[in-house]
This record gives sequence, structure tokens and C-alpha cells, in this order.
Amino acid sequence: MKDIFDKCDFGEFKLKSRIIRTGLWESQNRQHGYLKPEVFLRYERLSKNNVGLIITELISLYPHDKFSDYSHSINYPLFMKDFKYLTDICHESDVPVFAQVAFANCNVNGKQMIGVNDLTLEDIRQIQSDYIIAARSLSFAGFDGIQLNIGNNYFLSKVIDAKENRRSDKYGGSLGNRLRMVIELIQAIKKITPLHVNCRFNVNPHDEEESLEIARLLEKYGADSLQLTKPSSPQFFSKDCKEENILFDITDRISGEVDVPVILGGGLSDMKSINDLINKSEISFVSMQRPFVYNPTFLSEWKKNGEGASLCSKCNNCYWKKTSTCHMVAEE
Ligand code: SF4
Repeated sequence: MKDIFDKCDFGEFKLKSRIIRTGLWESQNRQHGYLKPEVFLRYERLSKNNVGLIITELISLYPHDKFSDYSHSINYPLFMKDFKYLTDICHESDVPVFAQVAFANCNVNGKQMIGVNDLTLEDIRQIQSDYIIAARSLSFAGFDGIQLNIGNNYFLSKVIDAKENRRSDKYGGSLGNRLRMVIELIQAIKKITPLHVNCRFNVNPHDEEESLEIARLLEKYGADSLQLTKPSSPQFFSKDCKEENILFDITDRISGEVDVPVILGGGLSDMKSINDLINKSEISFVSMQRPFVYNPTFLSEWKKNGEGASLCSKCNNCYWKKTSTCHMVAEE
């Protein structure tokens, strides 16, 4: 029998539970140039309360990106100092922490809003080089891993998507070609840094075989773990859970077919459902987002009581308003 509070291996890490905290937005990002104390307090509460692994909120690869106002930015001057302090907080409680990195708008080499099909080879190399520089900074700041968010609606998800990518060169066409830019990136990051590389990618609910092949290729070319998601996260956070089932089935299949850890994207919010799911499937790791926004310490209550359900109402207010806090808790 699997239990969410099993101590378990996740690649090279020993986790205290099977629950992965995935970050959403960061509305408390800076004050006078520094991260706000509330951010450090939140990470302390997360890491002291039985979470297995923490994945940060979005860290924008580029300044002035679409979601910069609601995310961390790797480019701000005190990044290294603040994030070393943040990763130390996690490590004091023996919790590994990964940095989630992505960008939405492609503005490189003096050009604005470059489309997937208009990227030159120089643009591709610039993006890869910017990721590699970011990965080195993350490693120096004490992060254990980097999550390449190549899913949701971020730019690299479009490079992989056959509907968006109509290129006729070696970065377009076959799935292997559409993944080439990411695969080259994974290999370079692993060569240059000690970071664990996690890839968060979109499953295609209409083409399970393609989703499986993406997982196989990412594993083959060096990804250390995978997280499955969909283009628009809240779709599978619906109250009726209909969308969730699509993700469960493909995550179950991929978990059984690759040898790296696979994380089910969010949606579940009670201990019994999660334990039922992991015991009737190959799924071993479940990510949660909004329950941690509502209350960063709920896992300790579940562990103590042997049961529990998040009080998050799944209203998605924090998602759409892009806040790292819950309006229900703030108004209490
Ligand atoms: S209740 Fe709504 S705003 Fe609060 S954490 Fe849950 S989804 Fe977010």
C-alpha cells in the first residue's frame, strides 16, 4: 500500500511525502528591491510541514515578460542573495527545491514578439544561452533542480506543438525535431550544472501516443523527472473533476512506461482521494497548488489526523487575479 506520507525516492532525493508543491503566481515579489518577508515565511511554513518537494512560482527568464508582474524574475539584481536565503530555508528542513523557469513572449536579439516560425538559428541559440546562464545562477543560489516549464501556454510549449510549429528546418516537422530545442537545452544544462532537470509538458488529450512519445524522448535525452499538465491549468481544476480524469489516465500510463519520476498535475485536494488514486495506479507523485495558497501547513494536519481535505473552494480567484495569497483567508 502506498501512502502520501511515505518517505520515498524522487531521483536522487529522499522526500518526506509524495506531495509536490507547485507554485502559481508571486504577488509578494519585491519591496525596496528585496523579496518581501512574507515570501520567506511562506517557504518556511511549506518546508516545515511535510511537503515532499517544492517547485517555485514562475521565475521569468526575461524582464518585462507577459507575467513579470506576477512572478519572480531571474534578472533582478538581488536574485542571488534572496534566493540563496530562500533555498537555505527549504534545506534546513531537508526539502529539495526546484526553480520553475519559463517565458511567454519571445523578445531576443533586439526583436519583439518573435513567433515560433520566425525564430532564426541565432534566436534559438540566444534563448538556449539565456536558459543556461539562468541555470548557472539557480545552481549558485542553491536550487536542487530546474523545472523547464515547456507546457501551459509558455513559449516553448508552442515550439513543441505541431499546430503552432510549421518550421521546415531541423527544429520543425517530426516530434523529435519539435523537441530538439528543448533536448539541446536539457543536455547543456546537465553538462554545465549539477541541477536535476524536470520538464513540465502538456499532454495532448486527443493523442495519447504523442504524449507518451514526448515523455520517452525527454527521458532518453536527459530529463530527470516529468510533470504533466495541460495548456490552461484551471481547466483541470474544475469542481466536477471531469477534466482531471484525462490527465490521470495518461499520467498513469506514462508513469508505468518511463523510469524517471512522473508528477500528476494538480486537481485533487483530499487525502483519501489521493491515496485511492496512487494505490489503484502507477502514479506515485501528486502536485498541488491552490491548497497550499489557502494554507501552506495543511499537510501536517492531514498527517496528524490521518485524513483531511483542503478548505480551498477551488474558486480559482488566485489563479485569475495572479496572487500568491487567498482572498478568503485574507478576508478572514
Ligand atoms: S479558495 Fe480560491 S483564491 Fe483561495 S486558494 Fe482556493 S482557488 Fe485560490
